[in-house]
Amino acid sequence: MLSGKTAIVTGSTSGIGLGIATALAAAGARLVINGLGDAAAVEAERARLAADHGVEVAYSGADMSKPEEIAGMIALAEERFGGVDILVNNAGIQHVAPIEEFPVVKWDAIIAINLTSAFHTTRLAVPAMKRKGWGRVINIASAHALVASPFKSAYVAAKHGIAGLTKTVALEVAEHGITVNAICPGYVMTPLVEKQIPEQAAARGISEDAVVRDVLLAAQSTKRFVEVSELAALAAFLCSPASGSITGAILPVDGGWTAH
Ligand code: NAD
Repeated sequence: MLSGKTAIVTGSTSGIGLGIATALAAAGARLVINGLGDAAAVEAERARLAADHGVEVAYSGADMSKPEEIAGMIALAEERFGGVDILVNNAGIQHVAPIEEFPVVKWDAIIAINLTSAFHTTRLAVPAMKRKGWGRVINIASAHALVASPFKSAYVAAKHGIAGLTKTVALEVAEHGITVNAICPGYVMTPLVEKQIPEQAAARGISEDAVVRDVLLAAQSTKRFVEVSELAALAAFLCSPASGSITGAILPVDGGWTAH
């Protein structure tokens, strides 16, 4: 379905991004994967994706908090594969703390990586998509693009911002065959969530079991974590011809959380 297309998935060395990269490779797309991690482990993952799916896979170690490195990643896709057709803005970090104790460096990093990086990738990828008359931008937002939780001021601000960016760019590029959508997962058991369980326990003064039961899954009516495969399947669908009229959409995949 996606053979001949090139996809960049930011933050695809782990978790949701790796799952989406795998689904797009399985559909035949060439990949630029990106993210932090041990060089040998990243190279093993890159080689595995290429071998398993018979597609070319390049790696960019661009730091999503650095605009010049983001430009280098888009240039790599242009030089190696002739431009980006599918852009998945997925890289993200989290920090949990009360507003009066929220470290300024963490605020700045979360806004840069979770929000501003998508501005840079999108502004740099859209010209090639316009030239080709086809493109897909998929922003991995969060249920926190729609509702808030305490102690996540920077993350909730960034994710609400991504929802606004999604809708705005969708309107600007709609007549060029480019769709722009946001997927809003509920809680998924990835390293990002594993790390925040002890942080949430400390911020709230409760046990880690209570964080999972009474905080993370409290509003998720399915009472289970969202699966990476469920998000990857939606991302692949948003790249398929059947999705051409879905644009500017903020799509919850959250077990009913934001239906409350
Ligand atoms: P994860 O920690 O497993 O993966 C995050 C990825 O981002 C990794 O590949 C990491 O290397 C990369 N990354 C982090 N900082 C980076 C930087 N400066 N430059 C480049 N890459 C960087 O997390 P995840 O749970 O898979 O999260 C992926 C996205 O999904 C994030 O945007 C997150 O906010 C969102 N999300 C996650 C959940 C959840 O419950 N896990 C829920 C809703 C939304």
